[in-house]
Amino acid sequence: MAINEPGPNPRRAYDKDGHEIPPATVASTRAMGIRAVTAFCDPCGHYAVVPLDRFPDALAIPDIALRVRCSACGSKRIVVHLDMTDFQPKGPDVPR
Ligand SMILES: [Zn+2]
Repeated sequence: MAINEPGPNPRRAYDKDGHEIPPATVASTRAMGIRAVTAFCDPCGHYAVVPLDRFPDALAIPDIALRVRCSACGSKRIVVHLDMTDFQPKGPDVPR
């Protein structure tokens, strides 16, 4: 049985059999050492770093987009990405 239609939830990933792939949650993301996500506003391009401690542990990372609003234009069309800033290797010769 082939399912090629998009899944019922646009903020979830689905495998080739149509099963939902569990998204990262606030708790699992914090466990990776990431303490914030970056929220991008689709209409205006504004973005902000949003600390994860504002959200419940069980909240799926993509669903943070439902809980934030653009502070620049007021839009709720937000896309959330993991903030990988803490993951960047910090070289000894980064100019400041
Ligand atoms: Zn905006």
